[in-house]
Amino acid sequence: MDKKSKIADHMTESIRKDKKVYFFGGSRADGDATMRNILGGKGANLAEMVNIGVPVPPGFTISTEVSTIYNEKGRDYVIDLLKEEVKANLERVEQEMGTRFGDKENPLLMSVRSGARASMPGMMDTVLNLGLNEETLQGLIRKTGNERFVWDSYRRFINMYGDVVMGMKPASKEEEDPFDVIMDHLKEEKGAATDQDLSTEDLKELVNRFKKAVKEQTGKDFPEDPWEQLWGSVMAVFESWNNPRATYYRKMHNIPASWGTAINVQAMVFGNMGDTSATGVAFTRDAATGENIFNGEYLVNAQGEDVVAGIRTPREITKEGSLRWAKLQGVSEEERRERYPSLEELFPELYQQLFEQQQKLDKHYRDMQDLEFTIQEGKLWMLQTRNGKRTGPAMVKIAMDMLRDGVINEEEALLRVEPNKLDELLHPVFDPAELQKAKVIAQGLPASPGAATGQIVFFADEAADWVAAGKKVILVRIETSPEDLAGMHAAEGILTARGGMTSHAAVVARGMGKCCVSGAGNVNISYRNRTMTVGERVYNEGDFISLNGSTGEVFDGKIITRVPEMSGDFADLMNLAQKHTRMGVRTNADTPKDSRVAREFGAVGIGLCRTEHMFFEGDRIRAMREMILANDETGRRKALDKLLPIQRQDFEGIFEAMQDLPVTVRLLDPPLHEFLPHEEANQKEMAQEMGMTPEMVKQKVDSLHEFNPMLGHRGCRLGNTYPEISEMQTRAIIEAALNLKQKGIRAIPEIMIPLTGTHEEMKLQETIVRNTAEKVIEERGERIDYLVGTMIEIPRACLIADKIAENAEFFSFGTNDLTQMTFGYSRDDSGRFLPVYLEKGLLKADPFQVLDQEGVGQLVKLAVERGRSGRPGLKVGICGEHGGEPSSVEFCHRVNMDYVSCSPFRVPIARLAAAQANVKEKMASQPGFGGYTTA
Ligand code: PEP
Ligand code: MG
Repeated sequence: MDKKSKIADHMTESIRKDKKVYFFGGSRADGDATMRNILGGKGANLAEMVNIGVPVPPGFTISTEVSTIYNEKGRDYVIDLLKEEVKANLERVEQEMGTRFGDKENPLLMSVRSGARASMPGMMDTVLNLGLNEETLQGLIRKTGNERFVWDSYRRFINMYGDVVMGMKPASKEEEDPFDVIMDHLKEEKGAATDQDLSTEDLKELVNRFKKAVKEQTGKDFPEDPWEQLWGSVMAVFESWNNPRATYYRKMHNIPASWGTAINVQAMVFGNMGDTSATGVAFTRDAATGENIFNGEYLVNAQGEDVVAGIRTPREITKEGSLRWAKLQGVSEEERRERYPSLEELFPELYQQLFEQQQKLDKHYRDMQDLEFTIQEGKLWMLQTRNGKRTGPAMVKIAMDMLRDGVINEEEALLRVEPNKLDELLHPVFDPAELQKAKVIAQGLPASPGAATGQIVFFADEAADWVAAGKKVILVRIETSPEDLAGMHAAEGILTARGGMTSHAAVVARGMGKCCVSGAGNVNISYRNRTMTVGERVYNEGDFISLNGSTGEVFDGKIITRVPEMSGDFADLMNLAQKHTRMGVRTNADTPKDSRVAREFGAVGIGLCRTEHMFFEGDRIRAMREMILANDETGRRKALDKLLPIQRQDFEGIFEAMQDLPVTVRLLDPPLHEFLPHEEANQKEMAQEMGMTPEMVKQKVDSLHEFNPMLGHRGCRLGNTYPEISEMQTRAIIEAALNLKQKGIRAIPEIMIPLTGTHEEMKLQETIVRNTAEKVIEERGERIDYLVGTMIEIPRACLIADKIAENAEFFSFGTNDLTQMTFGYSRDDSGRFLPVYLEKGLLKADPFQVLDQEGVGQLVKLAVERGRSGRPGLKVGICGEHGGEPSSVEFCHRVNMDYVSCSPFRVPIARLAAAQANVKEKMASQPGFGGYTTA
C-alpha cells in the first residue's frame, strides 16, 4: 500500500470513528448488512435493503455506540453530540420524501424505533407519527383530504408519546393506562363499540382530553415543537434499553448490557391515506408447507396493525391464493371479485413491483422472507424483511429446494434445519384449525412429542381393555411404573401428574414414540374417585382430553389429529446428513418393532436394549417373581431356567431385525422390588398364583423395600450378588446369536454391564459374562464375536475410567443416572422443584433433557479421555436421554464419541444434529469453509 492511500485509509477510519448517524434511503445507504454491531439488526437490514434497490422509506440509524454514551453522559451531552449529524440526515430524508419536518403545508412525519444487535422483540419502546402538531396536522389534512385519518394519527401519537416519553405508562399491571381510560369513557359517551365508530369530531375531542390529561399528570404541555418531539423520542428509546423488561430479556439471552441499542429514525408512510393506499404482510414461500409460492394478505386503506388485528377480513395478495381462500370460505366468485379481490387483480402494476421485490429479497437473503409493505397513494414501500418462521416440513422443503436450485450449499442446507423441528415430520399432529378452537387446561413437561386425543382412563389394565373394545384412551396416572407398560402401549397418549423428562412414563413413551405429557403439577388425580381435577373442573373417567407432547399442553375435549406426510425431501436431507457426519446414531430399543422403526430412520445399531421391559408381559412376570421370591441360589436358578428360552427368543427377534448391526444389550438394571406388586389385592392374586400365603408375599415385598432404591440394590450390584442372573442373560444373548448364525443371519452382540462404580465390580462382571459366553461357545462348537463393556453413569466411574477400560471394550454414558448423581437430583422427584428452578433462572435448562456441559459434561469428557488412555481406540457412546437432544449431541461429537443412541423417533433428529456438529467443527477449523452465512 502506498503512503497516499494509507493516509486516505486512516482518514476514512477517523471519519468513521466520529460518525454516529448513518443514512439509508433512495438508492444508497451509508451502512450494510455486515454492520450489525454498529447499526443493530434492524438498521443493518434497512441499509442492506436500500443497497439492493428495495424501496424503503428513508431514514437514519443512530449507532449503538451512542446508547453507551447516553448511559454514561446523559441527554444533553448526546443531543450536543448528534445535533449536526441528525440535522444533515433529516434534510436528506426530506429530499427523498419531498416533504419537510415541521412544515405547515407539507409535513414529514417520522417514527423512532429501537434496534439492538440481537433481536429483542417488543422489549423496548417505539414512537410513531412524530412531527404532528396543531399546525402540521392542518397541512396533512389539506394534503390528504382525509381529516379523520390525520386526527386518528394525532391521537395515537399523543397516546404513545405520553406513555413512552412523558412517563404516563402505568407502572404496574393493576394500573390502567390513563389514555385507555379516557378512550373508554368517550366511547361510552358516544355509544361507540370500537375505535372505528368514533367520528372525526369525537377524535378531536379525544385529542383535547388527552392533552389535558398530559398537563394534569405531568405538569407540562404536550410538546408542539417537532424537534422537541424527536429528541424526546430518541432519548426515551435509549432509556428503554435499561427498562426492567429489556434488562431481564438480556439476562435470559446472555446479551451484554454494553452492546446498547441503535435507533432507527425513519419517514412514516401510510397505508390508510385513501383508496390508493394499502398495507400488508407477505411470505416469499409458504410457511406451512415450504412450497415456493408467494403469498400474503393485505387491506386497502388500512394501517399495518389492522391486518393482524383481525377486525377486517384481509384479502389475499395473489389471485391464486384468493381463489383458494374463497373456496375454503365458501365465498362465491362473484362476491370474491366484488368484495375481496386480490392485490394482483386490484393493482396489477403494484403487484408486479411487489412480486419483483419479494423475489429479489428471497434471493438476496437466500432464505424465505417474511415481509411487511405499505402502499401510500400508489407508491410501494417495503417496511421490513426478515427470515420467516416456518413449520418443520416447510423448513426441510425450503432448505432442500434452495440446495437443488444452487442457492445454498450442502453444509448450509444442513444448518438451515433445526433438528428438533424434524419431530413434526414424525408424529401425528393436531389439525391446525381444530387446535385454534381448543382450550388449554393444564401445562406439563413435553415428555414425548406427538398429538393425542382420547378418553380418560386411570388404570393401565383398563386402558388395554377399553382399547380392545375399540375406544381411544389417554392413560392418566400420578406416575407410571413398569407394570403399566401394556396400558401405556395401548393408550393414544399418557398424562402424568408427577415425574420429569426422564421419569418412567417419559422414557418409555419416547421409546414407543407415544405422546406423553409428564409432571402436570396442577392436575390432581384421585384413583379412588376415578377423577382428575384441574382447578374447579372435575374430569371423570371417560371424559375426553387431548395432549400435545411437543409443548406439554393438556386440552379440554377432543381434537382431531392427522398423520403428517413424509416427503422425499426429508429422506434427501437424511442422506445429506449421512454424507456429512462423523458420529453414528444408534437407537434405544427393546422390541423388534422399535428396532425396525429405528433402522428405517437410519439407526446404525442398538445402543441400549433394556432387558427389564422384557420381563413384564404374560408369563414372564411370573417366572421373574419366582426368581425374586426364591430363598436360595438353587431356587433362583430354577426360575431363571424358565426365563432363559423367553429371553433368547426376544434377543433372536431383535438381532434379526438389526442383522449386521451391533446390538448393545444391557444386563438387568432396576431394583427387584419393581417387579413385585405393592397393592394388597395384587399381592393376594400373586400369592394364589404362586401357592403362597398373602402374608409371605407381603413379607418378601417388605424385605425388598429400600429407602432409596435408585441408589440401592440395582445395576451390576444385582449381577454381582446374584451372578446367576448375569449368567442366564449372557447365555440367552450368545445362544440367540448362534441360533441366528445357523440361519445365516449375523448378530453382533455387545454385552453391557450397568451402573459400574469400581474396577472390581467391572472385573467380576466381566469374568462372569466371558466365562459364560465362552462356555456356550464351547458347548455349541461355534464362535461368534461379541464385546463386553459397561455403562458409565456413576461419577466415580468417570474418575477411574482408565482402570475400568482395562476390562471394558466399550463405554456407554448413562447420562440419566450420571446427571442424577452429579447433581444429586432424583430423576423421579425432580419434577417438584425443577419447574421453579427454571422459572427463577437457577437452571437454564432441565439437566435431564439438555446435558449439563458445564458440570456433567466435564465428567463425560474426562471419562472419555481417561478411558481411551486405559484402552486406546475404546469405543464410546451415549445412551441416556441426551443422546437425542441436539445440543447434547453436538457436545458428544466434540468429546469424540463414536455414536449417540436415542429413542427410535429421535433418530433423525440426532442424525441431523450429528451432521451439524461435524459441519460446524469443520467451519471453525477452516475459515471460509462452506461459505455459510447467517443472513
Ligand atoms: C441412564 O442412566 O442414562 C440410562 C440410559 O439408563 P436408565 O435410564 O435405564 O437408568
Ligand atoms: Mg441408568
